[in-house]
Amino acid sequence: MTDQMYQSLGISREVYDYSEKILSGLNDRFRKIDDIAEFNQLKVIKAMQDARVSAECFETSSGYGYNDRGRDTLEEVYANVFHTEAALVRPQITCGTHALAIALSANLRPGDELLSVSGKPYDTLEEVIGIRPSRGSLAEYGVTYAQVDLLPDGSFDFEGIRQAIRPQTRLVEIQRSKGYQTRPTLSVEQIGEAIAFIKNIRPDILCMVDNCYGEFVEPMEPGEFGADMVVGSLIKNPGGGLAPAGGYIAGTLSCIEQCAFRLTSPGLGREVGANFGVMQPFYQGLFLAPTVTAAALKGAVFAANIYEKLGFSVVPTGTEERHDIIQAIEFGFPEGVISFCKGIQAAAPVDSYVTPEPWAMPGYDSDVIMAAGAFVQGSSIELSADGPIKEPYAVYFQGGLTWPHAKLGIMMSLQKLYEKKLVKLPNDQKD
Ligand SMILES: *Cc1c(COP(=O)(O)O)cnc(C)c1O
Repeated sequence: MTDQMYQSLGISREVYDYSEKILSGLNDRFRKIDDIAEFNQLKVIKAMQDARVSAECFETSSGYGYNDRGRDTLEEVYANVFHTEAALVRPQITCGTHALAIALSANLRPGDELLSVSGKPYDTLEEVIGIRPSRGSLAEYGVTYAQVDLLPDGSFDFEGIRQAIRPQTRLVEIQRSKGYQTRPTLSVEQIGEAIAFIKNIRPDILCMVDNCYGEFVEPMEPGEFGADMVVGSLIKNPGGGLAPAGGYIAGTLSCIEQCAFRLTSPGLGREVGANFGVMQPFYQGLFLAPTVTAAALKGAVFAANIYEKLGFSVVPTGTEERHDIIQAIEFGFPEGVISFCKGIQAAAPVDSYVTPEPWAMPGYDSDVIMAAGAFVQGSSIELSADGPIKEPYAVYFQGGLTWPHAKLGIMMSLQKLYEKKLVKLPNDQKD
């Protein structure tokens, strides 16, 4: 019955058989992913129970938002889940970049230096920091920037970090996910080692982790290893697909208060900020986040194995341990990237009938193709893919609110490549 359903969606017998064969080898991987989801689900429920979440927490507030119990309780839940003293979780934080910009600008002062120890930060942060000159950047406010690259094997350059720490070094940034680079993603344990190393040299240096795409992939979060701030977007993992917008910063009470005075206003801080009725999806999204993240991870592992066994280079590999939900597949030719994205789009619940095409986009030096049929605009915890049309013709994809949808999306991507005769399936060779 299920195979007929796949057929009615446009999946051929050949693609179906190949996919099922790959899947039959992934039972152990999937079980481990489910085990982590189980642990994280319990962690979230415990945090909600301890904070005495009640139906009242879902009520809308307006105006100043004084005494917003839903907002304050949600922030307590986040602090519990991320093992920090406090948190800011708000619809007024517009996205991940904004959350990071708040965390940085709130805790740095003119003359301070920001040090990135995981190499070049995520693209949008270049303008926040002023690596690319930009209005309102930290550089304009007299905050300097230094960077230590990761070693060729992707690990921290501890000697380089020691040398880069100067008297004016105030805050260290560590980016957990590789984002759209080819380095490996850092594990929470590795991040913990770097924090311990830095705090051992200068305990007063603040350690901030860009946690985007990493939440709930592992049983532990960077707050458990002494991170002063852990920052991310609610339209990625922790929003569970339900949060319609928003960002979070979890951290020490003193860092979070600094952030609140920057987000709202000096003197007002955390006391203001209406919730506009988003509390119920914020809570419910966090509740779903561990299993949604697991679905996305299964999709990533499935895709890595599907394409690796067809001879394409994939990052991470089909057998590597995962520390974020992003999967890169290198096709080496433009039609591979294009067909892949068309398949992801064709499998979407929303906008499945539109055909994505490569296009010039601001901030990119080549045409880019993007596929997303999302309930929330730009949500990348929902199944989505994009790739610049340039060497090495790699596609980056992530998300999937449910495992069956992620599976269909990847099968559909393969179907599109197969129809264009861009891949040969192993079972073809028999006939
Ligand atoms: C997505 C992402 C960001 C920025 O988040 P937006 O919500 O797109 O602004 C920052 N850092 C990393 C590593 C990311 O993956």
